Amino acid sequence: MKLILLGPPGAGKGTQAKILEEKHGCTQLSTGDMLRAAVAAGSEVGLQAKEIMERGDLVPDEIVVGIISDRVDEPDCASGFILDGFPRNVAQAEALDAMLENKGLSLDAVVELGVDDKILVGRIEKRAQETEGGPRADDNVEALKKRLEVYHAQTAPLIGYYGDKGVLKTVDGMADIDDVSNQIAEVLGVG
Ligand code: AMP
Repeated sequence: MKLILLGPPGAGKGTQAKILEEKHGCTQLSTGDMLRAAVAAGSEVGLQAKEIMERGDLVPDEIVVGIISDRVDEPDCASGFILDGFPRNVAQAEALDAMLENKGLSLDAVVELGVDDKILVGRIEKRAQETEGGPRADDNVEALKKRLEVYHAQTAPLIGYYGDKGVLKTVDGMADIDDVSNQIAEVLGVG
């Protein structure tokens, strides 16, 4: 299965990606996790991404597109993958379309987790308190405000982009975790 999970920060994309990974043996590809690993390792990409991520902006498209293109070629993606946090704007979505076509691959679905902004703030505060090793550098009120702004301005247009292609499925991301994963199974026809 090849999927995109789409939704604002704190919508539960990571949680649902892990559940899908366990259930279906496909690999979670979180650009946020990969970028945080690059920052922690102090790599060239990490050095470029660090400050941008801390203020809640998007890192340049060519960086994330390159990371995903390489990652999709790894053997653990042969059984499918779940894109979590990518694409984040229309340019990335177009690059993904071209990349998948080149590789002879296609998406099965794009699943949008719909969540109100008001709920997201509480969820991110909770995550900041519960994250092992301390909160993420961007799980604070100021960066979150920016991340939500960026989501609405740049990422939300992907709902229309994938809606027009007829691959978009929307679930209620405000329900509890099991309920959301049941809804996802249902829209994917694997429930
Ligand atoms: P996330 O863990 O998905 O919330 O991502 C954390 C941060 O990593 C974002 O606020 C961005 O700064 C950066 N990031 C993650 N994915 C992307 C992407 N596809 N494009 C640009 N920046 C990204």
